[in-house]
This record gives sequence, C-alpha cells and structure tokens, in this order.
Amino acid sequence: MKNVILIAPPAAGKGTQSELLVNKFGYVHISMGDLLREVVASGSELGLKIKKIIDSGALVDDDLTIELIRNKLKTLNGQPFIVDGFPRTFYQAQAFAQVLEELNIDNYVAILLNLSKEDAVKRIAGRLICKCGKSYNIYDEALKPKVEGVCDKCGASLVKRDDDNVDSFKTRYEVFETNIAPIKNFYEEQGKLVVIDVNRAIEEIASDIARVIKND
Ligand SMILES: [Zn+2]
Repeated sequence: MKNVILIAPPAAGKGTQSELLVNKFGYVHISMGDLLREVVASGSELGLKIKKIIDSGALVDDDLTIELIRNKLKTLNGQPFIVDGFPRTFYQAQAFAQVLEELNIDNYVAILLNLSKEDAVKRIAGRLICKCGKSYNIYDEALKPKVEGVCDKCGASLVKRDDDNVDSFKTRYEVFETNIAPIKNFYEEQGKLVVIDVNRAIEEIASDIARVIKND
C-alpha cells in the first residue's frame, strides 16, 4: 500500500474515505488535531512545550508541527499511513518531503479529492436532517426524501442543520482553495499528485482510491 497525504476541500467526504482506508486496508490515520492532543496528554517534554503554546492561545508553529509528524512516523514500523489536515502551507509541504526522505519513505501519493465550489455548496445547502438522526440532501437524487420535507423513516419534518451556514461555508472553501494551490503545485511537480473527482457515488470514489494506493 502507498502512504497517503489526503487533501480535500470542506464537504468532499474526506472523513468517509479515510475511514474506509483505515477499516479496509489497515491504514494508520494521522490527523494533526489528534497528534496534538496525544502529545499534550503524554506529558512529555515536547507535550508540555506544546501545551504552553496552546494555553497561551497561540498557534503551534510549522517546525513543531513537523517534529510531531516525524516522531509519529517513527513509531509506525512500516504500517501504511494517511496524513490528514497536513501540510497546510507550502513550507510545511517542503519540510514534510524532507522528513519523508530522511525516513526513507518514498512510497507515497498526495490524493486531492476534487469538488468544485458549486458542488460543495450544494452538498451543504441541500442538507436536511431529521430528529431521528437520518440525513438527506435535496440536490442528490439518491439522498432526497420521498416526500418533500418529510422523513422517510419516521415521518417527522426535516430541518436544516444550524451549522449549515452557506456564506461561512463559501468563505471556508475559498480559504482552502487559496491555501492549497501552492501545495497542489508542489506535489504535482514531485510527480506525487493524484486528483480524484468526488462528485460521484462513494463506492466509485473508494474504488478509484483503492487503485491508486496499490503498489505497481
Ligand atoms: Zn426521521
């Protein structure tokens, strides 16, 4: 299995796809948020240093972030990994490539889950939920309720989620687009970038990813 750097705009289904990789292929999922929590909880010297930074309200800088990832990768013993939510900057991408080289890890691919802003917005704007927990999307034939505004499962009225604020979502998407452009170019130049279109059924996306991660 190839190691994976997973890059995706909001609403692209990154969580679903990484879960599949973990459950089906035994990947270790490395998310920056989890790593930070782990190291702080460990009480190590590095953990205490990071706790201080977080407590002061500052952001953990690039060099510490890289150090965290490097330490984590050293514990994997050859298990394939997915890195999620990292790199976030061009500098991080470059430094990460150096870490991988240093650890003799060349067997990796950067997978970009590609979803246009328009389609991403549809996923958010069309989302409806029921109090029973079932969710729907009015812009997706497969996820539409049978009767408009009514839950198929329990018959209750469907509502929009509070956090589905379309304007703030658009801003989030635009920030992602701006930040990701140099990172995308970086992996493209390295011959490591694979773009997978995610405006399709989850199974189709998963089978494309499965093809990409297989070693030749
Ligand atoms: Zn319901």
